[in-house]
Amino acid sequence: MLREIIATKSERIMNKPANLSASTHEKQLDRLAEIAIRVGLNLARGQELVMTTPLDALPLARLISDHAYKAGASLVTTLITDDALTLSRFRHAPDESFDKASGWLFEGMASAFRSGAARLAVVGDDPSLLSAQDPGKVGRANRARSKAYLPALELITDFAINWTIVAAATPAWAKAVFPSDTPEVALAKLWDAILKASRVNGADPVAGWAEHNRALHVRKAMLNDKRYSTLHFRGPGTDLRVGLSDGHDWNGGSAKAQNGIVCNANIPTEEVFTTPHAMRCDGTVRSTKPLSHMGTLIEGIEVRFAEGRVAEARATKGQEVLTQMMDTDEGARRLGEVALVPHSSPISQSGLLFQNTLFDENAASHIALGQAYSKCIIGGGDMSEDELKRRGANRSLIHVDWMIGSAEIDVDGIDANGNAEPIMRKGEWAVAVK
Ligand code: ZN
Ligand code: ZN
Repeated sequence: MLREIIATKSERIMNKPANLSASTHEKQLDRLAEIAIRVGLNLARGQELVMTTPLDALPLARLISDHAYKAGASLVTTLITDDALTLSRFRHAPDESFDKASGWLFEGMASAFRSGAARLAVVGDDPSLLSAQDPGKVGRANRARSKAYLPALELITDFAINWTIVAAATPAWAKAVFPSDTPEVALAKLWDAILKASRVNGADPVAGWAEHNRALHVRKAMLNDKRYSTLHFRGPGTDLRVGLSDGHDWNGGSAKAQNGIVCNANIPTEEVFTTPHAMRCDGTVRSTKPLSHMGTLIEGIEVRFAEGRVAEARATKGQEVLTQMMDTDEGARRLGEVALVPHSSPISQSGLLFQNTLFDENAASHIALGQAYSKCIIGGGDMSEDELKRRGANRSLIHVDWMIGSAEIDVDGIDANGNAEPIMRKGEWAVAVK
C-alpha cells in the first residue's frame, strides 16, 4: 500500500490530451474526481478536507473540490506543489537547508486531521525530478521532512481518518512513461492508462468499484481464514521466507478508518496486504520492476535478509539512493508490508512501467521496507507502540514498496506446523474467488 506523500511537480501547465474533445476529457476527469470523493474518501457531510496537488493537476483538483463541496465538505484547503520550486532549493539553497522542513505546516495538518479532516493527495510526480541532484542532499531533505511530518503521517498509517491518493497525468510524468511519443500523445496515453487503472471507464464506475471491493474482500477473508505463519516466495533470484506478524490481519479494498468511515486509501488498488514480522524474514529476493524512489530509478535490486534485517543489498542502478534510504533508521532495513497481486491485474497487463508506486505496486506482489500498518494487526488500532512491536510490527520513518512478483513467481503459505500449500502459481492465485 502506498501511504500518502507530499507531491512535487513541474511548472508546465497541464493541457488536455490532443486526441480527445474538451468535453470528453472533462467528463472523464469529472468521473475520476467523483470516484476520489465518493469511493476514495467517502467524504462525510460537514467534514473538512486537506488536499495536496501538483500545479499541473489543477484541472482535476478543481473538479475534486467541486465534488467535495457537493458531498457536503465544510472546507477544502488545497496546497499546491511545483517541480521548479522544488528544484530551486536543490540548485541554490545553502547546505543547512537540507536538514530543514516545514514543521509548522505539518503540525497544522496533523491538527486538522485530529479535528476530523480527511486527507486527499493528487500525485503526478516527475519520476526523475531529483535524479541529477546530490543523493546526500536528497536523503537529508527527505529525512528532515519525514521527521517533521511524522505526527501527521502517524494518523494516516494508523488509519485514524479517511484518506486517499489519486493520480493525474502530467507532462513530465508522461514523458518518462512514453519517452518516444510527442508530448501530446504521451499525455493522452498516460491519462488513458490512469483512467483505466482507476476503473473509471465503465458505465457505472461507482458500482464497478463496489464489485471490485467485494472481490478483494473475499480474497482477504480467505487469507485471514488460513492465518499462515509464513509466506514463501520462489522464482528467479528469489527464495524468500516472510514470517507474518503475530495476530496479523489481511487487508484489501475498502476498509473502515477509525473515524468510522469506509474508504479506499489508494485509487487504484489491486492488492491484498498484511504486516510481516520485523524479525522473521530470511532468504534472498530480486526485484521484478524498477523502483522509482525520490526522483531516482533503482533497478536490479537484490537483497539478502537474515532474521528480518537486510544483511546485504545491491542494485544495478541507483545503489547509492537505495543505501541512503536503508540508512534512514534501524527500521528502514526491515519489512513493514507484504502484499499479493496477481500477474493478471489490469495494471500488470497494461505492460507499462508507470515509475510511480501507486500504480507499479498494484501490478505485482511486493514487499515494503519500513513502517508497518497497525490496521494489519488484529486490534492494532488500540495497541501501544510496545504491544505492536511485540507482535512484530516494524517502525520507521520510511515505507517504500518494491515489486517482487511476476509470472515466474510461486508463493506458498506455511502454517504454524510447517505445512505448505500453494497461494500463487506462476503469478496467479492458486484458488479462484467465487
Ligand atoms: Zn502495498
Ligand atoms: Zn506499501
